[in-house]
Amino acid sequence: MGIITDKERIDEALELLWVLDEEGHSDLDRFSLSSDDADIPSLIETLKQEGLASAEGADIRLTEKGRKMARGLVRRQRLAERLFTDVFEMPEDSVLNDACKMEHILSEELTESVCIFLGHPPTCPHGKPIPRGECCKKLKVEVVPVVTRLSEFEVGSAGKITFIVPSDPSRISKLNSLGITAGSIVKLLQKVPSCVIQIDETTVAIDPEIAKEIYIKKVPK
Ligand SMILES: [Zn+2]
Ligand SMILES: [Zn+2]
Repeated sequence: MGIITDKERIDEALELLWVLDEEGHSDLDRFSLSSDDADIPSLIETLKQEGLASAEGADIRLTEKGRKMARGLVRRQRLAERLFTDVFEMPEDSVLNDACKMEHILSEELTESVCIFLGHPPTCPHGKPIPRGECCKKLKVEVVPVVTRLSEFEVGSAGKITFIVPSDPSRISKLNSLGITAGSIVKLLQKVPSCVIQIDETTVAIDPEIAKEIYIKKVPK
């Protein structure tokens, strides 16, 4: 292990505070227990001095400035994870450590390209939300994304389902029971009037609204 710089320490702390906040926590104890930092009191002092976090009593939370920075870091990390699983097809559980280092390497401009390239994915492979960037608002499609919604997929093509983001989580088990699950290879047979896909020997009709919630990556014929 090399020398840990202040910037790395701060970045790690900001990410941790973001994740704790996502889980609904803001207690200092939990932060201290979850952090790997060797000197928590000095870390907290630095965060306060930099105006990135406020700590009062048993509470620690990100300031507006801290949230903005954490958001960018978490976005980069989760996009890096998606890049590894979707493009390099690394298993999800082995991704975390490499992605950890990736987010310090990905520049802000590269982050946007990666986001566009992946089709503005809403979640990381672990199901955590990827904070949206400017590119996601504009939904720029300058390059053909690697991963597209099933509803935008090309009829006659085969693809591998990379993730499903149901607006109604109870749909997942129904879709799974039909064989529609991350990793399944499906062929899109038609889009109108309903979306029909083929999985192995079975054809399944899907509601067009649900087809928008299934993300797919083209596989070579
Ligand atoms: Zn993740
Ligand atoms: Zn985007």
